[in-house]
Amino acid sequence: MLSEFVECMGFAPKLIITDQDWGMKLAMERVLTSTRHRWCMWHIMMKLPEKVPKRILVNEELKKDLGSCIWSELLEPEEFEETWLTIMDQYGLQNESWFTTMFTQREYWILAYFRDFPIGSLLKTTSFSESENSFFRRYTKPHFNLAGFMMHYNSALDAQRNISERLDFSDASKVPILSTEQLFEKHAAAMYTDRIFQQVQDEIVEAHRRRRMPHFEMEDNTEIYAIMDSHRNIGVIHHEVGTESYHCDCELFLRRGILCCHIFLLFKNHDVKEIPETYIGTRWLKTPLLKSVHNDPSEEASSSADSQVDDKRVVVTKLHSLYFRLFQRAQSNGNDIFALFDGMEELSQKLFGDTVPSVSSLGKA
Ligand SMILES: [Zn+2]
Repeated sequence: MLSEFVECMGFAPKLIITDQDWGMKLAMERVLTSTRHRWCMWHIMMKLPEKVPKRILVNEELKKDLGSCIWSELLEPEEFEETWLTIMDQYGLQNESWFTTMFTQREYWILAYFRDFPIGSLLKTTSFSESENSFFRRYTKPHFNLAGFMMHYNSALDAQRNISERLDFSDASKVPILSTEQLFEKHAAAMYTDRIFQQVQDEIVEAHRRRRMPHFEMEDNTEIYAIMDSHRNIGVIHHEVGTESYHCDCELFLRRGILCCHIFLLFKNHDVKEIPETYIGTRWLKTPLLKSVHNDPSEEASSSADSQVDDKRVVVTKLHSLYFRLFQRAQSNGNDIFALFDGMEELSQKLFGDTVPSVSSLGKA
């Protein structure tokens, strides 16, 4: 099934989240060799009361310590291991089988091991697929035949499109209230969807509150800043002088696609007016600004924050996006699809001297 899935999609997924099903694990190891496999944290934590003696779980302090170590996005793997082993030692859990087993399998479920993975921190559980299941369940029934299923499936998609259009309208018409006078906040409000802007704004406000200049060092051509936020987390930023390259080791941008308060504080001190294009990202933009999602995945993988984006690639991305948007608009407007075809045929003749069959002749064929 997994091989067929890859064949249909054209490439393997970058990440799959499952419960701790052993069969899935073995199949993925055989077929999806380049895919990261993650276990759903919700499934693991739900089973905890069955796996661990009651006397252990009544200890509130232990639950708190364990929770902050398991769910932290900021710990590096070595820091996680050190913290976990300290907890085992402190609460005498070295010989509890659940803890020892789950520690040996830590790379499948602990967030510290997914810090380098884009949007890894949002995908902690299988909740996305569970919510899709529950959504489609509202539109389907077990006794449907194929035709009935397709009709109801289309209704479900229409409902999703309606929600999406409503959100697009809200994004286009709503004027977000700005919290600072920083121009990059205004820029963020113009680029991101309303919901994501609120998260970006939280980071900007956090940066705005910090008045103190960060600790600074210079190494070759790179400025290194250590900035402490109000949660006492320190972000170490590397900024290459004369470029728009910023990297913070809290890795928020890598995980969620939005910049962290540490980098925004630096923007404030450096009087940066707009968020550089590389750090605007591609995922959370308002719909008219969205870029194509149909890029070559190998190209996408190499588009890391510090890679150089050449002009040709920018145009290719914009072209994909333009075509995709035109196609979507034309498709929802009856005869426009014919006009789009005619226009593209004309362009093809102009550019390549090709003659492609017209829509009407396609129809007759
Ligand atoms: Zn940071």
